Amino acid sequence: MNHTSYIEISKSAYKKNIAFIKKETGDHVIISAVVKGNAYGHGIENIVPIAEESGIRHFSTFSADEALRVYENRKQKSDIMILGMLHDEDLEEIIQKGISFFVFEFERLNAAIQVAKKLNTKARVHIEIETGFHRTGFEWSDREKLLSILKKNEDLISRCGLCTHYAGAESVSNYVRVRAQIKKYDQFKTWFLEQGMSFDKYHTACSAATFSYPETIMDMVRIGIASYGFWPTMETYMYKFKSLPESDKNPLKRLISWKSSIMSFKKVKMGEFIGYGSSYMAPRDMEIALVPIGYSHGYSRVLSNQGKVLIDGKMVSVVGTVTMNSIAVDITDLKGLKRGDEVVLIGKQKKNEITVASFGESTQQVNYELLTRLPLDIPRRIVK
Ligand SMILES: *Cc1c(COP(=O)(O)O)cnc(C)c1O
Repeated sequence: MNHTSYIEISKSAYKKNIAFIKKETGDHVIISAVVKGNAYGHGIENIVPIAEESGIRHFSTFSADEALRVYENRKQKSDIMILGMLHDEDLEEIIQKGISFFVFEFERLNAAIQVAKKLNTKARVHIEIETGFHRTGFEWSDREKLLSILKKNEDLISRCGLCTHYAGAESVSNYVRVRAQIKKYDQFKTWFLEQGMSFDKYHTACSAATFSYPETIMDMVRIGIASYGFWPTMETYMYKFKSLPESDKNPLKRLISWKSSIMSFKKVKMGEFIGYGSSYMAPRDMEIALVPIGYSHGYSRVLSNQGKVLIDGKMVSVVGTVTMNSIAVDITDLKGLKRGDEVVLIGKQKKNEITVASFGESTQQVNYELLTRLPLDIPRRIVK
């Protein structure tokens, strides 16, 4: 059965993004592909194979259920790491499968030790420390107790990593806060080393930190948004811009395009209202096309009388309100259109392009939010 719209995912774009990130980090650094939020809306099942084809062997998820989806879809023996939620009841399965996870509190650490003992194996943990984000992480005052537990349980706990997360490396307005975090992390790391305790990998950087604070790169970077072809913010892009080669000022490529098609046409006389209510009165005799996507498909109501789509390579406007299942667009000046003609909501058509950023700006959403809100039931298609 046909659907009302499709999201295309470009494999070659992903490969280019990873190649660019690799150039930034150097070859010795592991890139952990962050696939939380259903791979930022792209679909874990779609991204894992593409990522492995691009040489990725490490994935990060927010939760245990996402980790299992990576586990089931990987074809290589790629590492999987849980950054956030993991119920104690799920520890057994996660530890058994060799999936590693962040530990930021004694409760989880002790639970992991119990399970590892029962299974007669090692739990693979990344110790997350509080450096100033103030969400999760062991406090500086926890360090002695933490050290003693880790020492006592060396046969049950595999110390895969020592990690933290920055509170806004994508904006210079957080510069002082991020700098303080870098320092705090270093203090923890040095202290552990002085006590004779090391970790397999030191990792702190997300996309923004990788680009803007290269000293945070260390052994591994956890890259989400950049792998999907977006700068964390315009500011991060501006910061890098000068150092990008003239030949390629735009090294990050968007993976997704969102496409629908024309459902039907209608002629509207000057002075008539279009759609619900009276938000749009035809200023001239017009022709509109109906496109079968609406707010139930993730096309925000905020785009009523605001949105733009591409038809036949031309930018045309949404007229009237976005309804649950459709929008009307003004095609008065276009000729020769047919039912079923392609409508681009995000992406390129001929010489024109609607970017996620422009789309996001008019809906007041950041890239991250817009991507992850694209409904799961819109089919994703992998393209070259
Ligand atoms: C989401 C997340 C990342 C990736 O962030 P991006 O800005 O998308 O690169 C890295 N580390 C942690 C702990 C995260 O939660």
